[in-house]
Amino acid sequence: MDEKEKRDKDKPKVGIPRALHYYRYFPFWKKILEELGAELIISPPTNKKIVEVGVRHGFGELCIPMKVYYGHVMHLIENYPNLDFIFVPRYVAEVKEAFFCPKFLSLPDVVKILPDVPNLLNFEVNVKEFPVSVAAIDLGKQLGKSKTKALDAYKKAKTYYEEYLNFLRRGANVIHALRLVRRDLPFKLPKKKVKGNVRLLLLGHAYNLFDTYINLDFQKKLQERDVEVLTIENMPEWIFETPVVVNKKLQNYWKHEEEIMQAIRYFLTKGRNEIDGVIFLISFACGPDSLISELIMRDMKVVKLPYLAITMDEHSGEAGMLTRIESFVEMIKRKKKLMKEKEEEKQKTVVSQ
Ligand code: SF4
Repeated sequence: MDEKEKRDKDKPKVGIPRALHYYRYFPFWKKILEELGAELIISPPTNKKIVEVGVRHGFGELCIPMKVYYGHVMHLIENYPNLDFIFVPRYVAEVKEAFFCPKFLSLPDVVKILPDVPNLLNFEVNVKEFPVSVAAIDLGKQLGKSKTKALDAYKKAKTYYEEYLNFLRRGANVIHALRLVRRDLPFKLPKKKVKGNVRLLLLGHAYNLFDTYINLDFQKKLQERDVEVLTIENMPEWIFETPVVVNKKLQNYWKHEEEIMQAIRYFLTKGRNEIDGVIFLISFACGPDSLISELIMRDMKVVKLPYLAITMDEHSGEAGMLTRIESFVEMIKRKKKLMKEKEEEKQKTVVSQ
């Protein structure tokens, strides 16, 4: 056994389910956990078996991303019996004004009920009660590290995560960016930029948009139809600085739904001509998403932007989804063509006068 193998043998092995907030925070988690001396084992991309196992462990009305999460946890338990921990963070509030969905608040508690779960590595983000640095110190303690070491790891993870977010704002796709993070490669945009005849804003939680198994590789299907896809991860930071006031009584309570509404506010105003339509991928039985989907639909009608909401669950079929995408994209293409013809007609009239 060489020196490196010996060192790795002593490292605590931490399993990370490739689901839910993995698609949002993995770069931060990777950096802080590795700085704290952990060896990471990530579950594979979602597949049929993971979904089947997750569905068996989740109750019927649960949203699909949660069932998929259970499937990933079970995969780690069954395939890596020597794990010291599974990392199951508890995200309560990242900003003072909003909460995460209640399913994230109770995530470690429900995961504990699954059979043969090893120790859970806890990381609680709740800025309404304490700063994230306190959670980092606690994380370090669970891994046997000092307060100084934990704070240093936290600082490095924050800096790296900021670099990652900037990379997304420069237009990187989350799937590509996460691949670079997993492989410890520098943030570099692909040479070939995907351009299209139609530009759509794709809305939804990162775990719905970037888990290509549960969304039936939705983005690829759009790109094959000459569509350029934009997600809120690619939008500039300032768009998310001021809260959206729906009306005097109603303010958004959920963190991610607030971000979606902030993005929509931009496209209702300044950015109106930057996209040709909006698609919202929603999980079946998701309360927060179904509420804002209704609000977005009303706004879209006012500005006459084409809008399509697609609800997904474990039974979603490829054929049905393809038909809906095709008709939506086709309708937009025709609308654009018609507008172009009208514009040309107008120009001709002006010239002949
Ligand atoms: S926000 Fe919706 S999809 Fe996400 S965990 Fe909560 S209920 Fe499920």
